[in-house]
Amino acid sequence: MTSTERPTAYHQRLPYGERVSAEPVLGGPFFAFDGDLRVVPLAEPVIPEPPRSGEPGGAPCPTCTEPESAAIWADDRWILKAGFEPTGLPMVALLVPREHFRLDNLPAELTAELGPMIQRVAGAIRRIDGVARTHFSRFGDGSEHFHVWFFARPAGLMQLRGPLLSLWGDLLPHVPVEEFRTNTRTVATALTEHSGTPVGIAAG
Ligand SMILES: [Zn+2]
Repeated sequence: MTSTERPTAYHQRLPYGERVSAEPVLGGPFFAFDGDLRVVPLAEPVIPEPPRSGEPGGAPCPTCTEPESAAIWADDRWILKAGFEPTGLPMVALLVPREHFRLDNLPAELTAELGPMIQRVAGAIRRIDGVARTHFSRFGDGSEHFHVWFFARPAGLMQLRGPLLSLWGDLLPHVPVEEFRTNTRTVATALTEHSGTPVGIAAG
């Protein structure tokens, strides 16, 4: 192996091709599985990384191609997308700026709005009946267009706290379509109190 393929001491000491033990997470309060679990073998690093959507050489940016696809609310600068197939959570949503920026080149004006937008979206999702808390995450590994994920954590389901909330959304029975539409309207209407309008399935 060359240093290019495993560029740092961190990369060089990892057990590629091996299965690390699942033991550290088994039985934890936030872990969703028990029984005989095997961790997948650790894959070699891919450096340079393949381009993300919206990067030169990558697939077209899905947000710039269809800005209001799956959108439930929009104003002049921000779009909230949640009109996806329902999952097992009351709401999974994606906040994006209309224009194509990364986090590191987001203009100062949009950066200053980001905190208030997170507060507004989290509060709007908590308006859904039976939602205790709103989680949010910025991963950024799929598309270059800046985006923040929001996940509704149902009240009282204490096993769903922590990092596996989105995975529980895949495991639990999916929310019926009509209830899901009601949830999108609740969120879009709450956001509209400050700016913008409901769009897509939230506008019907
Ligand atoms: Zn874009």
